[in-house]
Amino acid sequence: MTTNNSVGVPDNHFFGDVCKFFDHAATFTKHDAGLLDQIKSCNSVYRFRFPIRKGNGFEVIDAWRVEHSHHQSPTKGGIRYSEMVNEDEVMALAALMTYKCAIVNVPFGGAKGGIKINPKNYTVGELENITRRYTVELIKKNFIGPSIDVPAPDYGSGEREMSWIADTYATMNPGQLDAMGAVTGKPIALQGIAGRREATGRGVAIAIRECVSVGEDMQKIGLTAGISGKRVIVQGLGNVGYHSAKFLTEFGAIVVGLCEYEGAIYNADGLDVESVFQHRKATGSILGYAGAKREFIDSMEGLEQPCDILVPAALENQITSANIGKIQAKIIAEGANGPTTPEAEAAFYQKGGLIIPDMYANAGGVTVSYFEWLKNLSHVAFGRMNRRFEENSNLNLVNMVEGITGVALNSVQRSTIVKGASELELVNSGLEDTMIRSYHEIRETFMNTEKIDTLRTAAFVGAINKIAVSYQNLGVWP
Ligand code: GLU
Repeated sequence: MTTNNSVGVPDNHFFGDVCKFFDHAATFTKHDAGLLDQIKSCNSVYRFRFPIRKGNGFEVIDAWRVEHSHHQSPTKGGIRYSEMVNEDEVMALAALMTYKCAIVNVPFGGAKGGIKINPKNYTVGELENITRRYTVELIKKNFIGPSIDVPAPDYGSGEREMSWIADTYATMNPGQLDAMGAVTGKPIALQGIAGRREATGRGVAIAIRECVSVGEDMQKIGLTAGISGKRVIVQGLGNVGYHSAKFLTEFGAIVVGLCEYEGAIYNADGLDVESVFQHRKATGSILGYAGAKREFIDSMEGLEQPCDILVPAALENQITSANIGKIQAKIIAEGANGPTTPEAEAAFYQKGGLIIPDMYANAGGVTVSYFEWLKNLSHVAFGRMNRRFEENSNLNLVNMVEGITGVALNSVQRSTIVKGASELELVNSGLEDTMIRSYHEIRETFMNTEKIDTLRTAAFVGAINKIAVSYQNLGVWP
């Protein structure tokens, strides 16, 4: 890998790509160049190193936290644990968080963190040391807190890491009432929220279902309306990919291909996502699955197989000028952040495709993080105050209607009507509402803006306009 400076920051262009998309979208707005520059820039980039004990010696860990925009507080975004992490990537991902939050009307600025390790090379104890030390470094610089910057899981991290962060933050801030709001994606037992784990994948599936439900848009790209029977290939069987595939299947789509870094599998009649997942867990590989009709050692070949919808849900930079010509899907739904390069996107639209952009498609995670943060600040689970009241009101209504009409409901009908909403039901309905509304907001911009080219540009235009209003309200810009 080539590097562009003495500290070994790889020569990447991910942040540049995000800025390229931004600059293009900005031409469809009327904002002052200075304001656009402020929105686009990364406000704070904190790069740090710390030692941890490993075996008989020490190892120095590289880490980052980037706060891209403070037009809203706190800033928000996950922490990536990956050997590939570098400053350019964390900046790009932080910027995407800003636009993502604006698109789904979540009142946060964007941020992202990165720890440059391969978690597989560390024991649980070492990972805990790294995570706790990373948190302490953020605390020292005021880069974490329920009203400052709120981390969450990302590639390579999950509930376990978030619980270490929560515990470290709470320990270092004794008596802080809202300490648990300093991080989201926590286990339920540590004031996490029901539905957060599957939220991103559920959001991706809802985004796709909504997109394919619009008949006139589908007609333009040569597909029929409706999710039922649509053939899908998913790249990545991590949290986002697995749940996207699972919910798409539940909605009636057929998962025909699955790709992981060790290879890809395909079956035109459909793959059973859960049993592929179990097979991989047991054998360590997606390959060798009995229900696959075709196998590819080169995982990228899996993306090029026949399907209607391709869901890259692994990492950035997967669909480029090099492979876009071979992609057979009509729709690319970006579960991952930044999987498609600007050049590949232009080529895909040219050949009649459509892309559901990352900053909308994968916004379900941060949407439910927002619900978790609200729960933490209000110190009460959703539904706790009103669930029984709702049930009693419904019961009174059913009893009264039964009395007046003389029609008695059976026990299933009765409990369906009477039942008050659980936390999970409220979270899922809030998520669904957010994804559906946001899709139509983007589509409206797309339909109503002359010469606009892609849904991504429309999403950016909407985000830029909302962020500009925040700056204007802050009095920063006239
Ligand atoms: N890492 C996730 C994302 O990229 C979630 C961020 C969050 O919940 O704050 O959207």
